[in-house]
Amino acid sequence: MRARPSETELIDRIRRAAERPAGREVVLGIGDDCAVYRPRRASGDLVFTTDMLIEDVHFRRESHTAAQVGRKALARGLSDIAAMGAEPRFCLVSLAAGSWTDGRWIDGFYRGLLALARQTGTVLAGGDLARAGKLYCDIVVCGAVPRGSALRRDGARPGDRIYVSGRLGGSALGLAVGKGKAWRRHVALQPRLALGRFLRAKLKATACMDLSDGLSLDLRRLCLASGVRADMQAPPRFPGATLEQALHGGEDYELLFTVRRGTRVPGEFEGLELTRIGEIGRGRPGDVRLEGVPLHPGGYDHFRA
Ligand SMILES: [Mg+2]
Repeated sequence: MRARPSETELIDRIRRAAERPAGREVVLGIGDDCAVYRPRRASGDLVFTTDMLIEDVHFRRESHTAAQVGRKALARGLSDIAAMGAEPRFCLVSLAAGSWTDGRWIDGFYRGLLALARQTGTVLAGGDLARAGKLYCDIVVCGAVPRGSALRRDGARPGDRIYVSGRLGGSALGLAVGKGKAWRRHVALQPRLALGRFLRAKLKATACMDLSDGLSLDLRRLCLASGVRADMQAPPRFPGATLEQALHGGEDYELLFTVRRGTRVPGEFEGLELTRIGEIGRGRPGDVRLEGVPLHPGGYDHFRA
């Protein structure tokens, strides 16, 4: 039997097959949190991301309310907008409503989605509706950023310091226990939009991404994109979360970023902790060490066997 490729390998394959001719308006293509589009003669860039939310993969109808599912669909996309240091402008939402949904459930879905849209200045500008056995939702979010200033994954250089926002592992813990503070953390993730803009405009972060699939896997991706390696210490943990959950648990949606050595990073931003967890080094790209020991990427990969 042939080995199944990982999600990272598949993305690489698609990226190689999809040509992006030089001189076109798409200045950053596949592989970052968002693509970057630069309209001719415009002062700013537009960033785009798309995300799927699938029943029994990303949520369960028994444990999530309709409003929570709607909110999550948009929040995941907004987290990618935050990772670029951008400001959300509009979204497009395609929903294949599960056969079990009724009008009330669908109203609840859009109520949750639109509450977060209003809170973040995101306009729901269109979409599509269909029916399917299970619920599928696909969302496209567009954001804006001053020309050439979007935060990317490929800018980390040896000597840069590595930071994370917040405390990690809360979402994985919430999923495991199904109640309490950690569960609320899991269902009501908060896209770090203001922090992303602060990292871009004030700290001049050299690289940034959101933590969707687990720190060990996402830091490896950042290092691969930048052609560097990383040395890290144990990250700050959500109360009650294990080190495993903090290192490999998905869906924390905090920001992972790097800054030049000597950059003054405050201990917190608007009440959210910013913690230094390591340093970028020269060496085999994608190599990540925890306290000197190679750290195997254990995060979430949809295509892992
Ligand atoms: Mg992302």
